[in-house]
Order: sequence, then structure tokens, then C-alpha cells
Amino acid sequence: MTTRRKFLEKISATSVAVPLLYSPLNLFASSTVHYEGPVLNVAIMGLGSYGTRVAEAMQACKRAKLVGVISGTPSKVKKWQSTYGIPSKNCYNYDNFDAIKDNPDIDAVYVITPNGLHKDQSIRVAKAGKHVICEKPMGINAQEGQEMVDACKAANVKLLIGYRMHFEPKTVAVIKMRKEGQFGDLKFFQGQSGFTIGDPNQWRLNKELSGGGAMMDIGIYSINGARYMLGEEPIWVTAQETKTDPVKFKEGIDETIQFQMGFPSGAVANCLSTYNMNNLDRFFMTGSKGIVEMQPSTGYGPIEGRTHEGPLTQPHITHQTLQMDGMAALIFDGIKPIVPVDGEEGVKDMKIIDAIFQATKTGEKVML
Ligand code: NAD
Repeated sequence: MTTRRKFLEKISATSVAVPLLYSPLNLFASSTVHYEGPVLNVAIMGLGSYGTRVAEAMQACKRAKLVGVISGTPSKVKKWQSTYGIPSKNCYNYDNFDAIKDNPDIDAVYVITPNGLHKDQSIRVAKAGKHVICEKPMGINAQEGQEMVDACKAANVKLLIGYRMHFEPKTVAVIKMRKEGQFGDLKFFQGQSGFTIGDPNQWRLNKELSGGGAMMDIGIYSINGARYMLGEEPIWVTAQETKTDPVKFKEGIDETIQFQMGFPSGAVANCLSTYNMNNLDRFFMTGSKGIVEMQPSTGYGPIEGRTHEGPLTQPHITHQTLQMDGMAALIFDGIKPIVPVDGEEGVKDMKIIDAIFQATKTGEKVML
């Protein structure tokens, strides 16, 4: 009897200690499931192409709602007000948005502006007492990222980074398989992330606003992917840069970088980040017991892929819808995604990017 009681006590102690994990499919198992509970009221800062995509996706959210905007363009604000029913009292510009602190109708601000603006804008949001959701890359280097983490801690608000793949059902299924040991001892990851960039005058090719070229924008998917697929943190990087168009890709704007990462288990990743090749969106991983390949692997989907067990068949649900509902679940209920989306997670990627840039300059292996 005593033994049985001890056993039960142990089990319940364990179940309390294990954090609740967010399952992307639970909330959407049936579109008729009625949600009753707190809703995360969000203002979007930066009404550009990705901000628009997030706003559209949020229309299907159950736990998160678009209620405000921050923009420097009055005509866009007007259009968003009429499209999404946003009241004038929830509309701000880049000069006056600190006043959001006096607006109880907004819980969080989603920063979707050029990378070089993320740090200052996120810190202002934190100081206004609102949760910060910030797009990737969280800043333009690890030091900026750490300042953002510290500011959000000091203000007692959450800092979440827009890592939408951490909520994507096929990706989550592969990570679960890896955690269960279904791929065996992991040996090798290959990530290819890139597209051909157009307009040479856009902010993505302006160092001050972007912080770098393809690596900050798209290469980060292979970095983050290597980490969540292998489930380890790299201990070294090597990297080689190729530049075929130094006019379009000026000093500090990387066109193509190949990079390698070594992990404590002995696993190695070999990745490609580029602004000069189309249709590069592929992950491959092999272990002693199996393989997984995904292509597309991080685009807006549907993600497609297969493992040694067969095709990945989890349903496609708009990534940003899952992400925003998942982030609301995290903020209100502490329900965590399978891989963190917090500021510390963002800083880990930024440290690796810093090391990759250093490695391309010196040609040396950089230890992390
Ligand atoms: P975009 O150029 O389409 O939009 C940027 C917005 O910021 C525009 O509305 C622009 O007016 C505004 N802005 C404010 N101040 C500005 C300034 N000084 N200079 C230029 N624009 C300024 O860019 P985007 O594609 O929407 O990217 C925005 C952010 O979202 C970036 O950090 C990017 O990395 C990220 N992003 C993430 C994903 C994803 O899948 N998670 C996809 C695309 C973009």
C-alpha cells in the first residue's frame, strides 16, 4: 500500500513538474470547437507585407485578436481600420506609440518592421508595459538581442520571437520523433535556405536597416532548423562567403554563405544561405536509425516531407494562425511550444549569426 501510494505520489509529482506542451492540432481539431477564455489583444507595428500576412492569418485565431496598429503611413492605417474594424483609439504612429501604456485594450505589440529597428521599438513597447512579439531576426546582433531580453525582464513582460515553424504540425511531428529516438543517433543535418532577391533599393539590402544580407533574413531558418531538428546547440561554426554581385550586395550585405556547425554529440550541419538562388527551402537529416527530408521546409507551406517511416501527413494550417494562438496559450496559460519561442531562443540564433560573420571574415573555425 505504502509503495503504491509512493508510486502515485511520484507520478503526480512528475506530472506537475513536466511543463504543459502546446499541441498545434488540439485547438484546431475541429473548427467548431468553441473557445472560451482570455483573448490576446494585439497591435501590429509595421503594416508591410509580412504584417499584412499576419493580420489576415489572425482572422482565424481563437485566442488572439488584432485590435490595433502602429504605422507611419496614415493611408495604411485608414485601410486597416476599415478592413479589420480597428478603432481610432488603438491607432498609433512611431512617434506617439509609447502612449500605448495607457491603453488597456492592447496586451501585446507585434513588431514587424525592418530588423535594424526591432531592438529600440521592442524596448519601447516593453517600457510601455506590453508584451513584445518580435519578428526574426530579433535584432541585428546578439548584444541587441540580450538588451531586449533584459528590458523585457525588467518590465516584467514577455518577449516572444516570431518562430512560426515551432508551431507547424509536420515540423512538430518530426521534432517529437527525434525526441523519441526514432532517428537514432543523429549524424548530419543539411539546410538550404534562399531566394533570389529583387529590388536593389529595398531595406533588406541596406545594412543599417537589415543588419546583414541573406543570413539575417533567410539563412536564420537553417540555423534555427539545425537546432530544433538535431535538438542540440552548436559548439563551433565555420563559414565561407561567395559574392558575385558586389554592387547589389554591398559591404556587410552577404549574398551567399555556406556554413557548417558542429554539435556536442558529434553531429554536423552543413547549410547554405543565399539571396541569389531560387527555390532553396530544404532540410535533410540522417541518424543511425532513420532519415527525414522536408521540402519546402520553412516556407509558408504546405510543408512537405517524409521520414524513413513514410510521408508526413499532418494537416496544413496557416502558420501565423497557429503561432498567434500558440503565443496566446503561452502568455495566458504557460502552455509551451515544443521548442521555445522566447527571447533567449532568439539570442541563441543571433550568437550563431555573429560567429558565422566572424568566421567568413577570418576563415577560422569559431568556437561558441
Ligand atoms: P516590408 O518592407 O514589407 O514591411 C516593413 C514595414 O516596416 C513597412 O510597412 C514599412 O513602412 C515599415 N517601416 C517602418 N519604418 C521603416 C523604415 N525606417 N524603413 C523601411 N520600412 C519601415 O518587410 P516585411 O517583409 O514585412 O518584413 C518585416 C519583418 O518581418 C522583418 O524583420 C522580416 O525579417 C520579418 N519577416 C518574417 C517572416 C516570417 O515568415 N517570420 C516573413 C517575412 C518577413
